[in-house]
Amino acid sequence: MKRPKFILDQMCGRLAKWLRLMGYDATYFNDITDGELIDIANKENRVILTRDAKLVKRKIITRGHIEALIIDSDTLDAQLIELTKRLKLDCFKSLERCIECNVELRSIPKSEAKNNVPPYVYKTQDSFSLCPSCGRYYWKGTHWKHIQKKLDGIC
Ligand SMILES: [Zn+2]
Repeated sequence: MKRPKFILDQMCGRLAKWLRLMGYDATYFNDITDGELIDIANKENRVILTRDAKLVKRKIITRGHIEALIIDSDTLDAQLIELTKRLKLDCFKSLERCIECNVELRSIPKSEAKNNVPPYVYKTQDSFSLCPSCGRYYWKGTHWKHIQKKLDGIC
C-alpha cells in the first residue's frame, strides 16, 4: 500500500515531526494561508491535517477532491494515537526522513561520518545517514531508542 503524504497547518508542527520520524512525508509550513495549504494539498496529493474546523468545510474538501482530517486531540501523544487509528498508519521506525526538512535521508558509508559525528558515536554506531538538504547527520543512538519506545506504545 502506498503511504499517504500529509500537509499540516500551523497548529500541528510537532505532529509533523513525529510523522516524519514514523517515515511519512509530512509537509509543514509555519506561515501559510488556507488557500496556499489547499493548493499544495491538491497539487501534491496530500492529506490535510488540521485543527481548524472551518477549513474542512471548503467545497474542494467536502466534494472529496482533497482529503482532510480534523485533529480532535490536544496532546501530541493523543494526536498520534488518534491519527494512526483513524488512518491505520504503520510506524516504519526506520530513520528515513529528516525531522527538520522532511527530505529523504541518504545512507552514507561509515567513513564519511568520521569527522562529522562525535567520536563516541563513531565508535559505537555502524550505520549513518545524511540529510542532503540541511547536512544533518543521523544515527540510531540513545535518542532514537527513546523515539522507538514512544512509537511502540502507539503503533
Ligand atoms: Zn534536513
